[in-house]
Amino acid sequence: MNYKSTRSDGNFVKSTHAVLEGLAPDGGLYMPAGLDFSAFDASSLMKLSAREMSEKILSFFLDDFENMKELVENAYRNKFADPELVPVKKVGDRFVLELFHGPTSAFKDVALSVLPYLTVQAKKQEGLKEKIVILTATSGDTGKAALEGFHDVPGIQIIVFFPDGGVSPVQKLQMVTQEGNNVCSTAVRGNFDDAQTGVKQIFSRVSAEGMPEGKHAVLSSANSINIGRLVPQIMYYFKAYKDLVDAGEISFGEPVDFTVPTGNFGDILAGYFAKRMNLPVNRLICASNENNVLTDFIETGVYDKNREFYKTVSPSMDILVSSNLERLLYVLSGEDSSYVAELMKKLSETGVYTVKPEILSVLKSEFSCGFADDEETKRTIAGVWKDNGYLMDTHTAVGWAVAEAYRKAHPEDQAKMIVLSTASPYKFPQAVSEAIGLPAEADEFRLMEKLSQSTGTNAPVQLATLQKKPVRFTDVIDKERMYEYVMSQITD
Ligand SMILES: *Cc1c(COP(=O)(O)O)cnc(C)c1O
Repeated sequence: MNYKSTRSDGNFVKSTHAVLEGLAPDGGLYMPAGLDFSAFDASSLMKLSAREMSEKILSFFLDDFENMKELVENAYRNKFADPELVPVKKVGDRFVLELFHGPTSAFKDVALSVLPYLTVQAKKQEGLKEKIVILTATSGDTGKAALEGFHDVPGIQIIVFFPDGGVSPVQKLQMVTQEGNNVCSTAVRGNFDDAQTGVKQIFSRVSAEGMPEGKHAVLSSANSINIGRLVPQIMYYFKAYKDLVDAGEISFGEPVDFTVPTGNFGDILAGYFAKRMNLPVNRLICASNENNVLTDFIETGVYDKNREFYKTVSPSMDILVSSNLERLLYVLSGEDSSYVAELMKKLSETGVYTVKPEILSVLKSEFSCGFADDEETKRTIAGVWKDNGYLMDTHTAVGWAVAEAYRKAHPEDQAKMIVLSTASPYKFPQAVSEAIGLPAEADEFRLMEKLSQSTGTNAPVQLATLQKKPVRFTDVIDKERMYEYVMSQITD
């Protein structure tokens, strides 16, 4: 299958190339060219395990890859605490899709377990001899999941940038204690958008000028701008649906709603792809925190990033430039790459664009939206804990609050509601403990213990044991210095 940029026509590449390159040379994102999503047989997935589903979906999108079955088996071997990877829990009359049972306790593990294997396979098939350097900007969870996925993979080096002071203490510790001889994580003075823009600029510069003399490497990305990050996320929408069918909650064909705590729009876009691949989905509900640029966009068609940036208790969603929206605009505009290029130019020059009324109306016919501020997020954690004995993290709580508000506003929608749970509550012990009324405590690990004792839940081992690990990375750099930093870090 060929891939092409969302911003221009004519330059077609294989899926192996798209995965290796991450971002297209014109700054656009890779999309499959001429793929008929609706040719996918959704019903055949209903008898399969999560791994088998993953293989079928990956093969559908990335058909140039050899050995997909083996690749998926290796990717998920002994990585997830749950044998079915992504279990669904019934909570009251809602369903929570738990995506956080992987090695770093956030949903990013589902895709970042697969991406390193795709990268190595693509490198082999493309006959690439140079080292690959993965550059990743993170709002907290991608960084650790990418470090964990790529550490000690031969022929690959990884550099992660996180916003200084913009991630939770546990998230930071996870990244700065990462083991492996090909890894590094660095704080950037700025927010996530600055880090993400910095990474995109490095790609553009290297794509225009090549690597500086004496440096032999090829850059790639582990962010959801990489199609190899996005495609593995489609699986869990099918898996959750199958679980509801198997539990007798729905019969096959009955549509369900999904609410997705959203930042960069990668997770929810995978849900939209699933829907286009014939999964019976009614509404996709985009949940934001106080950085509600997407709520405004879906309501009005105006995307305006010129607004105050808030640091919230759901830091992985503290994002004002949602990269994957570009892919949605490409699809909704009928794959009109010059239109997408024009919108993206406006976004980078003025920070604002407005979509055509036709696009706004399709957008509204597929997506609903809402946001929850920190107060409501904490109230939600407390309420669900008290009423249902279910402890959720701050991002999941944003989703839950928005799902409930949506249902209140739309009593006619009787579809089963599945809320995606994107992180373990133990990744954000301060906010979660405060929400359920535990006494304040500065030490995150004491808090984890108290949270465990008072709720009868267990902290994931890899989080509870973090405090014993030595800190390996302490660099803090200015956002203007990211290019030089990357070049100085690239080893032979
Ligand atoms: C990354 C992340 C999100 C947002 O996902 P996007 O794909 O960026 O929309 C939500 N919750 C958690 C815990 C995350 O790590």
